Amino acid sequence: MKLAGKRCYQLGLIGYPLGHSVSPILHQAALKSAALEGVYQLFPIPPTQEGLKELETLFSRLRRGELDGVNVTIPHKQNVQPFLDRLSPTAAAVRAVNTIYMDESGQLTGENTDVPGFLRDLSRLIQRKDGKAVVLGAGGSARAIVYALSQAGWEVCVLARRVDQAQSLAEEFSQNASHMVQSGLLEQKILEKYSPDCQLLVNTTPVGMVPNSAGCPWPDEAPLPRNTAVYDLIYNPLQTRLLQRARQENLPGMNGAGMLSAQAALAFAHWTGLEPPFEVMEQAFPQHL
Ligand code: NAP
Repeated sequence: MKLAGKRCYQLGLIGYPLGHSVSPILHQAALKSAALEGVYQLFPIPPTQEGLKELETLFSRLRRGELDGVNVTIPHKQNVQPFLDRLSPTAAAVRAVNTIYMDESGQLTGENTDVPGFLRDLSRLIQRKDGKAVVLGAGGSARAIVYALSQAGWEVCVLARRVDQAQSLAEEFSQNASHMVQSGLLEQKILEKYSPDCQLLVNTTPVGMVPNSAGCPWPDEAPLPRNTAVYDLIYNPLQTRLLQRARQENLPGMNGAGMLSAQAALAFAHWTGLEPPFEVMEQAFPQHL
C-alpha cells in the first residue's frame, strides 16, 4: 500500500532465470533519486512444484507488508494470478501480470505496465497513432504488444513460426478491437504478402538477442518494408541485426530499452505513489549492453 511518509521500500522481481536482469539497477536509481531507502531484490523461482511453494511464501510476505511490491517476468506472468485479489483492467485483458502492489483498499493487485510502457516509448519512434503493423512472434510479450496496438487502433498482423500460436493470439485480441487481428506463418512468402504497406514492424521474438546476436527474425533475402518504422523489444544488444538492417535501409528504429525503463517507472509509481521516474530510469539503463 502507498503509505504517506514511507521512506524505505522492499521491492523485487520474480522470474526464472534472472541472471542478467537490469531491473535492480533501474529501481535502485529511482529509489536514490527520490531520496528513499530500500532494496530491489531478485527472486529467481523455477516453474516447478517447489517453485510454486516459494511463490506462496513470497505472497504471504507481500500480504504481511514485508515486501511493498514486486515485478513479475517469465515464466510467472500468468502463474501469479491465483494469488492475487484482483487484476487491473489491462492485466485482465492481456492476461499477464508484470507488477504487483497493494491498492488503497488493501487488495493485492496485479497490473500490466508493459502495455502503457510500450505505447509511451513507441510514441517517440513514430508519430502516427494507427496504421498497419506487423508483429513478429506470438509469445508472452506479443500479448502486451498486440493488445496495445489493436486497442490503439492499429490494424495488426501477427506472424509466428507456429501458426496455431499466432492464430489463437489473433482470435483472442480481435475481440473488442476496432480491426480483426490477422495472423500467419513467419516466413518469407507471408511477409511479402502482409508487410509491404505496413508502417510499423515490431519484433517480439528473442531472435538477435545475446548470446545469439547474429540472428535476425526478418529473412535475409527479403527487403524490409519501404515505409516502416522498426521497434525491436530486445535491449541486449542495444543494436540488433534487425535494427542494423533498418538503419542501412534508412528506416527509423528503436530498441526495447525505453519500454523496459518505462514499464519499470510505471511500476515504481504504483508502489510509491510518486510520479513515474521515466528519465531517471532511462539514464540509469546500462549503455554497455
Ligand atoms: P516468449 O514468451 O518465449 O515468446 C517468444 C516468441 O518468439 C514465441 O512466439 C516464440 O515461438 C518465438 N520465437 C522464439 N525463437 C524463435 C525463432 N528462432 N524464430 C522465430 N520465432 C521464434 O518470450 P517473450 O517473453 O515474449 O520475450 C521475447 C523477447 O522480448 C526477449 O528478447 C525479451 O528479452 C524481450 N522483451 C523485452 C521487453 C522490454 O521491456 N523491452 C519486455 C518483454 C520481453 P515458440 O513459442 O515457437 O518458441
